[in-house]
Amino acid sequence: MYCDSMVALPRLLFGLLLFRGLRIYAVPLAPVNSEHLSGIGRFWHVSDLHLDPTYHVTADPTKVCSSSKGFPASNPGIFGDFMCDSPYQTILSAFQHMKTVTPQPEFMIWTGDSPPHVPIGELSTDLVIQVMRNMTQTIRQHFPDMPVYPALGNHDYWPQDQLPTSTNEIYQSAAKLWALWLKPEALETLREGGFYSQLVQPKLRLVSLNTVLYYSPNKVTVNMSDPAGQFQWLRDTLETSAQSMEKVIVIAHVPVGYLPYARNTTAIREVYNERLVKIFRDYSDIISGHYYGHTHRDSIMILKDVLGKPVTSMFVSPAVTPIKSVTQQYSNNPAFRMYHFDTQDYRMLDIWQYYLNLTEANQEKRADWQLEYVMTEAFGLEDIQPCSLFKLAQSFEMEQSKAFQKYFQHYMVSYDDHVVCDEACKLTQVCSLLSLDSVSYTKCIEVP
Ligand SMILES: [Zn+2]
Ligand SMILES: [Zn+2]
Repeated sequence: MYCDSMVALPRLLFGLLLFRGLRIYAVPLAPVNSEHLSGIGRFWHVSDLHLDPTYHVTADPTKVCSSSKGFPASNPGIFGDFMCDSPYQTILSAFQHMKTVTPQPEFMIWTGDSPPHVPIGELSTDLVIQVMRNMTQTIRQHFPDMPVYPALGNHDYWPQDQLPTSTNEIYQSAAKLWALWLKPEALETLREGGFYSQLVQPKLRLVSLNTVLYYSPNKVTVNMSDPAGQFQWLRDTLETSAQSMEKVIVIAHVPVGYLPYARNTTAIREVYNERLVKIFRDYSDIISGHYYGHTHRDSIMILKDVLGKPVTSMFVSPAVTPIKSVTQQYSNNPAFRMYHFDTQDYRMLDIWQYYLNLTEANQEKRADWQLEYVMTEAFGLEDIQPCSLFKLAQSFEMEQSKAFQKYFQHYMVSYDDHVVCDEACKLTQVCSLLSLDSVSYTKCIEVP
């Protein structure tokens, strides 16, 4: 209802004619068909690299990688295995392929998780910093002139998940490593709380949140009302942006909202989720999009205001690592993506999703990264604005929805087209797309 009434007006490409007395005025409006009429900006999004330095192909499948935690690798090859985190070779091939894509984006966002999934005793603060340094240098070597905006993940700390609310060795090291990309004001808050904001284009501000402070397994922040003062900082930052007529993109590792694979489960603690959703609603008119990682799967969410009107698009990027745990039915192929936006008003236009078919890459001993899909083409959308995504998500609700089947294949980065998401699975998926707060989520999930 909200969306239909909203699309008609801006579709007028060449302006609206206003009659005043006998004279006719042409009033220019922002063009919708910006492919032709205005510039397209681009940025890369990489997430969850999870380098496993121990990865090597060997006769004993339980010894291929520490990250399989003693379980046998499934079908190991030089580019990895679905039971393991990324070999360096795979990460390298991803950045090498990114370099060949033209035109090159203006900047990159990198939403965290560099170290491997290994038992606590196999890592240390020093090792975590070493892996973060290695990944920072790898990106820098491939893109010496590209600004990169990182966010901290739950694995970018030792012990994992326990990111603190004040300065420490890891936040300080991150600030040193990323000083080549970030301004002094950004480095200051990064050093203190693991978050920052920076103007990345004229009138476009990037806010990098440390959502690991709100992550359920983080014991440091239990019962805190505002860990590291980040909520207050976020409100202040967004308020200043609003007054300066800036648009904002929000990046973070752990996403807000409900998990697409686990019913009734928020990724961050529920009380923090409610607060974050409220702030994001209050400033939805200036937030052009949200970009997350952590789940390792490809998904979208649509933030609606309290009246149910779709107000902001949110995107969760799949991982570069192909790892799955032994209990998971399916995994994801390695992936990264590019977003297109309108350079005049920073509206989000499209996603170009790239992936590596890991099984084929291992068979052919060659990392042939490919375009997996273009979002607007795959689903016949005009753009990736909240209304377009909202209508898409609504179409998923139909029985035997082909669009949903395609979405679910993308969710696993084309891992296996035999995996079926049954009705219960689909309801969990669709409710996580459409409902980010507990009241609306409960209503969604209880539909008979
Ligand atoms: Zn991860
Ligand atoms: Zn994570």
